[in-house]
Amino acid sequence: MAERMIVIGGDAAGMSAASQARRRRGRAELDIVAFERGHFTSYSACGIPYWISGLVPERDQLVARTPGAFRDEYDIDVRTRHEVTAVDLDRREVVARDLDGGGEVRAGFDTLVYAAGAAPVQPEWARDEVAGVFGVQTLDDGAALLDWLEREPRPRHAVVVGGGYVGVEMAEALVQRGLSVHLVEQADQPMATVDPDMGELVAEAMRRVGISIRTGTTVTGLDERDGRIAAVVTEEGPIPADVVVLGLGVHPNTALAEAAGLPLGPSGGIRVDRRMRVTGVPGVWAAGDCVESLHRVSGMPVHVPLGTHANKQGRVAGINIGGGYATFPGVIGTAVTKVCELEVGRTGLRERDATESGFEFVTVTAESTNRAGYYPGARQMTVKLIAERPSGRLLGAQIVGWSEAAKRIDALAVALWNGMTVDEMTALDLGYAPPYAPVWDPVLIAARKAVDALAR
Ligand SMILES: Cc1cc2nc3c(=O)[nH]c(=O)nc-3n(C[C@H](O)[C@H](O)[C@H](O)COP(=O)(O)OP(=O)(O)OC[C@H]3O[C@@H](n4cnc5c(N)ncnc54)[C@H](O)[C@@H]3O)c2cc1C
Repeated sequence: MAERMIVIGGDAAGMSAASQARRRRGRAELDIVAFERGHFTSYSACGIPYWISGLVPERDQLVARTPGAFRDEYDIDVRTRHEVTAVDLDRREVVARDLDGGGEVRAGFDTLVYAAGAAPVQPEWARDEVAGVFGVQTLDDGAALLDWLEREPRPRHAVVVGGGYVGVEMAEALVQRGLSVHLVEQADQPMATVDPDMGELVAEAMRRVGISIRTGTTVTGLDERDGRIAAVVTEEGPIPADVVVLGLGVHPNTALAEAAGLPLGPSGGIRVDRRMRVTGVPGVWAAGDCVESLHRVSGMPVHVPLGTHANKQGRVAGINIGGGYATFPGVIGTAVTKVCELEVGRTGLRERDATESGFEFVTVTAESTNRAGYYPGARQMTVKLIAERPSGRLLGAQIVGWSEAAKRIDALAVALWNGMTVDEMTALDLGYAPPYAPVWDPVLIAARKAVDALAR
């Protein structure tokens, strides 16, 4: 009889695991059932801001593979609108609720992949359902928001609560739709994933497109009128709104895992080994936004919920389940974002992280341009490096600039991943031609500056 693999969560991590396992083991050997509580599988949550802005016209463009395609091409039994409500490790079965048809399904497993993603942070005031208030975690959330934006009376005043990259991308998307937008952030700057000096450059770019940013402001409640959102209440008073987007961050979605007794680490994510096996629980695997990862620079367990990791981790789990061998060696926190006219990239540790991890370090910030100064379209690029003292090992990097800024972080990420020093980096053979870089690439200029700073 075929073994049974059950997947909880039908997006990046879960379906990567399922398809990799299927590639290695046919139907006769492995029966795969995936439970997804939403309507979609393998969708790009990352694309939601561009769908909302109108840049990507069709929702289906964000779906990489439909449930039907998984059934037909991969022989995977995908059960959408089925929410897993319990995992019983002793009986080796899951219980799922059919959200449309009603009723409950019980399904036994030999192998379980827990890939339930992350859950949005929801303060007390955000728990009651108020018409016109939306998260943007899933495609279903995005569809609900878009429906509200297109319905009469058309909303004109948006408040985005939370200035992480999701909040920032959504604020820009709403401006592009013609709404007036306030962004409210409790911290002193939006984009806390970069250091404050770099975050300020981001904030300036947002103000330039008309986004009103209220930093250091705490939301305390929501005001309703006639059953619709009317204002976001802050400690400094209400901000009128007819649509609100919540981007308050996420935490690992581990409620079911915890109830089942799966081990959680200090970051709150499920503890897994390098092959994505849940620590100490045979036959159970986990991947994606619900797990904890090793930070390769600080050596600390961290929760870094990004699609890039979810896809790789799911793939690793699937290869191993399929009888192959693969590992996920950790993260260094590389991320890129487009913020209005700017591009933002970051990798490794911020100054705050480097201090908390006990490193002695220097920081340098180099101003340069994305192209040769004389070449049309040359614009400013700011590169910040954090290097360990006295070794000179790169610990972190951030870039903010116009075109060609964001993906330059990849060169720095590779240097960081391989433990290079800033001195070694000054000799890197990076490409040069006037349309793409000055003769000294901004990355090299920053590395040279860091070498000087270390020598002082
Ligand atoms: C607006 C936005 C923009 C983003 N942009 C980027 C980006 O630019 N780059 C990047 O790297 N990452 C980005 N991300 C993050 C990225 O989307 C996630 O890291 C990635 O989707 C995680 O994949 P996952 O499979 O672990 O979890 P998810 O994509 O969250 O999938 C988990 C699935 O499990 C389902 N589920 C949960 N509980 C149950 C249950 N009990 N039963 C059945 N199903 C369940 C959910 O419905 C969900 O579909 C963005 C996220 C958002 C929201």
